[in-house]
Amino acid sequence: MSGEAARVAGCVFCEQAGGRLVFEGARLRVIHAVEAGFPAFYRVVWNAHRPELSDLSREERAHCMDAVAEVEQCLRDTLAPTKINVAALGNMVPHLHWHVIARFDWDSHFPAPFWAAAQRAAPAARVAQVEALLSAAEAAMATRLAAL
Ligand SMILES: [Zn+2]
Repeated sequence: MSGEAARVAGCVFCEQAGGRLVFEGARLRVIHAVEAGFPAFYRVVWNAHRPELSDLSREERAHCMDAVAEVEQCLRDTLAPTKINVAALGNMVPHLHWHVIARFDWDSHFPAPFWAAAQRAAPAARVAQVEALLSAAEAAMATRLAAL
């Protein structure tokens, strides 16, 4: 289960970073995703093409989930969100990635999941407040992820 798998043609996470790179390690990376209404939407992407969490070794799995928890902790510490959502779907892109999303009671979909229909427009001033804190959150992520 070690080593890099061949890149899979047509897979967005094999062919490109998939978003703005926040951290890049040997096994995984963290990207900031641009998703309307969600200013603090991150993805932890396993670098090698693996469809399912259970494709990883036990040790790789632990590393992956520790990374998810570190991203979550940095978002909590910096943004004080109402909730953090963590999800692995991969129906559209079957390359292991975890969504880690800071949710706010004012966001466009709250309390519905991010894949549901929007319930309102997110207030621009609130979104801007969160965006102003992202660089601090991301600096903390880079430090903590490098230490894993
Ligand atoms: Zn892939």
